Amino acid sequence: MLNLQTIVLREIHLQLREPFRISSGVTRERRILLVELVNEDGTHGWGECVAGEEPIFSYETIDTAWFAIERWIAPRLLGRPFAHPREVAPALEEGFRGHPMAKAALEMASWELASRLAGEPLATFLGGSRQRVPVGISLGIQPTPSALVERATRALAVGYRKIKLKIAPGADLDFVRAVREALGPDAPLMADANSAYCLADAAHLQQLDVFDLMMIEQPLGVGDLVRHAALQRQLSTPICLDESITGPDAAEDMISLGAGRIANIKPGRVGGFAASLAIHEICRQAGVPVWCGGMLESGIGRAHNVALASLPGFTLPGDLSPSRRYWARDIVEPEWEMGEDGQVAVPRDRPGLGVEIDRERVEALAVRTSRLAAGEERGGEP
Ligand code: MG
Repeated sequence: MLNLQTIVLREIHLQLREPFRISSGVTRERRILLVELVNEDGTHGWGECVAGEEPIFSYETIDTAWFAIERWIAPRLLGRPFAHPREVAPALEEGFRGHPMAKAALEMASWELASRLAGEPLATFLGGSRQRVPVGISLGIQPTPSALVERATRALAVGYRKIKLKIAPGADLDFVRAVREALGPDAPLMADANSAYCLADAAHLQQLDVFDLMMIEQPLGVGDLVRHAALQRQLSTPICLDESITGPDAAEDMISLGAGRIANIKPGRVGGFAASLAIHEICRQAGVPVWCGGMLESGIGRAHNVALASLPGFTLPGDLSPSRRYWARDIVEPEWEMGEDGQVAVPRDRPGLGVEIDRERVEALAVRTSRLAAGEERGGEP
């Protein structure tokens, strides 16, 4: 039984090993919101909010999420019994619009806590069956095609199963062509535009078809399902939707409209695990492959994503890079690693996340903390 007595929010800062640039902006340092839940029996559960520092990927930011959790989300969960974590999402949705990243942080931590109570690894608890999950890398926009070729060549050499090239107008055809020519026809390449184009760019985007990409991710805007369908009719490259998959309804719409042929499921973006499991099922029944994207998570968010990606419908490599790709040092032990086969092992030897939180380091990195308790009006500094 879930019955949360305390919710601790911490903001930590982790410096990226190198800046990460996408079509809409650049990230140099991650401000990460971690949530720690304490159940009535003393069991802990951990979550991570994927919201960014600025409203670049979506309108949510770490600051809006912090506010939403303190003001609306935590009060709905504290001291309220739940027989199963699948009841948490409906409790957060009732009469409460938006803020999916803030909600997901708590919802996913609830599943993690429940998996510990059940004595099961999170992956098993979610219904995942894979032992290993293939890993893809996401390469940010580089100043020149040759700089991108260098990174892509290295990625292929270390075994990545999917190489994603971030693209934007002015950094697309020449960059993709250079990588395809350098890596050869069999290299598993894809592109991600993060909504940088409009339907009027269809003829331009058609020129990507010759590069035989696995997919082009989110070329148009978040709400552009109808336009994505029109674009997909003009492209032989499958469209994969990321930002547009806001929940199960959007996944159904993508399929019925033909707006995309692949879905990127980020649990931290769609409101949590319950929504992710529903999207996974919708796509599986429609024969639509899915994969798990990344949001520059720390090792805690990575643990959640690896667990989800162990489900059977995740047939394409996920953006589940090892810790060293982004961080000089992660906040979990052991750090996430990728085998020479380009796969990450799904932890199955202990309940919960499958990695230990380096609590001392988390507390040393924390720049603000808020402790919210059942029966109290409002949290504050501990
Ligand atoms: Mg994306």
